[in-house]
Amino acid sequence: MIERIKRIAARLTEVYGEQQPKWPEDPLDVLVLTVLSQATTDANRDRAFQSFKEAFPTYDLVMAASAEEIARAIMSGGLAWQKAPRIKAILARLKEERGDYSLGFLASMDDEGAMDYLQSLPGIGPKSAACILLFAFGRPIFPVDTHIHRVASRLELVTDNATPEKTQAKIQSLVPPELVYSFHLNLIEHGRRVCKAQRPRCDECCLFDECPVHRDGAPGSS
Ligand code: SF4
Repeated sequence: MIERIKRIAARLTEVYGEQQPKWPEDPLDVLVLTVLSQATTDANRDRAFQSFKEAFPTYDLVMAASAEEIARAIMSGGLAWQKAPRIKAILARLKEERGDYSLGFLASMDDEGAMDYLQSLPGIGPKSAACILLFAFGRPIFPVDTHIHRVASRLELVTDNATPEKTQAKIQSLVPPELVYSFHLNLIEHGRRVCKAQRPRCDECCLFDECPVHRDGAPGSS
């Protein structure tokens, strides 16, 4: 299976390129971005984050604001009334437990400890925790979103009825660490552009000969 994963990753790299890590300055910003990304598009997430940073240049200012003021600043990201108190609760936890608005302490934790800590924060599940460790700390932890879950199921890298959490654990055990970053982003791109939820464009798919879906006909094609 690992050889097959390498072949699939190489095909995707040929089409979408080798994705280069771009680490942001502050892991806490990545956490906020991850919260803002829940149930919305990348464009709306980025708009909400920009407006959030303009309204609150420091995390002290976020904590001094009401949940309503924060919600107004992140409105373009959707679910603002859920996300605003969530962000505030996370910041309050960090201040109380660590004395600072920072995630720097995660750098000295092992992967399992860091995943457990992040998932203990309000609204942070396995996918969000993996995103924070991958994008803020460069750890080879593989987040599984709906696109990856769908493409991986169709390619039978995981069983069709596996939950996203099980898919994440399975893919984590299969993907060589050096491939995680680029393979993760390229699988999402492939899911968005070609292996769409409805009517996947199998005829133009670079993974056509790797995909068992054709045994039973393409999903959504009938
Ligand atoms: S062949 Fe079709 S179902 Fe299989 S990965 Fe490509 S687009 Fe998805």
